[in-house]
Amino acid sequence: MEAKFISQDDTTLWLDELAERHVVLAPMWDNTVVTFRPHVKGRTPVLDRMPVLPPKEGVFPQNEVLLKYKHDKDPENLDRTRVQVKETLPQETAVVVGARPCGTRGMLVFDRVYNCEKIRDPYYVSRRENTLFVTVACTRIESTCFCHDVGSHPADTEGSDVLLVPVKGGYVAEAVTARGEELLKASFFKSAAEKAQEAEGVKQANRAKLPEPHDYVGCGEKLMARFDDMEFWTEQSAKCISCGACTYLCPTCYCFNITDDSVGLSGKRLRTWDNCMSFQFTLEGSGHNPRPTKAHRLRNRVNHKFAYYPELHGVIACCGCGRCIKSCPASVDIRAIVKAAQNHTPKQEEGSDER
Ligand code: SF4
Ligand code: SF4
Repeated sequence: MEAKFISQDDTTLWLDELAERHVVLAPMWDNTVVTFRPHVKGRTPVLDRMPVLPPKEGVFPQNEVLLKYKHDKDPENLDRTRVQVKETLPQETAVVVGARPCGTRGMLVFDRVYNCEKIRDPYYVSRRENTLFVTVACTRIESTCFCHDVGSHPADTEGSDVLLVPVKGGYVAEAVTARGEELLKASFFKSAAEKAQEAEGVKQANRAKLPEPHDYVGCGEKLMARFDDMEFWTEQSAKCISCGACTYLCPTCYCFNITDDSVGLSGKRLRTWDNCMSFQFTLEGSGHNPRPTKAHRLRNRVNHKFAYYPELHGVIACCGCGRCIKSCPASVDIRAIVKAAQNHTPKQEEGSDER
């Protein structure tokens, strides 16, 4: 597919035009952070840094209404109640602009759970099919980035419809899918013939900024070998304050809770992001909690990404974005935990040379 060039100024005009037909989510400053917000006409998106919230918001919103309901009492027989239920399947089309390749790739972790042979979540599938991702190649490699450790790189196109590569004066736009190619038919896109080499140089330069990748092969077995070692998990979770920032900001965390918000005889059923680092997440009605301490909860979070999900789906459920490390108020580092498990030698083996 032929690459195109779009200037910086035309990028805002392009989003203005897109917003007339679609919901456009683009990174904006919100006080001190950059996060996804609906595009406002004429407002320049912030495309030179990674938004603090992941792009999953476009397909799996923080809050969404699943259905609305209404109870009607039969005035002739007050023991009889009729319930009317109205499903609210999302219909709108959306374009998520400005995510980094790691965040967009995170959507593939969702796909294997919510759109697979066993489960087809209609709300997720409807949004997924109606949402396009225009991703920006990374040019700011941070100390918390490790996409290359988990099989990706700063210009990865997996999960994207279009990849924008920053070059002088604008972006070289590469269509990844047929739907992405359609987007690039807009009049703002010109020939990229003179910019193609520069774009290639940008991609290679940023890949070269990352250190040698760490090898996570076999980490699932190593983590499971430490499953019952609560001394290890207590030590790893000592600094954690159970705030949940790591899960809320993670592009691959897909757990949700369902609540009813009702007034009088009518209401709505809501789906909301949930957080496995909270005590309430597994608290049962009886009062029993199978994950009673933060050590149990951190073990579950790390193992889910690097052991359980890979066993079920064959890939690590972490895209290496580093959000959980960067935003953790206690500096808990998921990379360090997995490496600690990988480097661990069971006690029996430690003394085996002496016997
Ligand atoms: S962000 Fe850090 S402190 Fe907060 S729950 Fe996650 S690991 Fe714990
Ligand atoms: S676990 Fe951390 S590094 Fe991995 S995808 Fe989630 S937020 Fe990013």
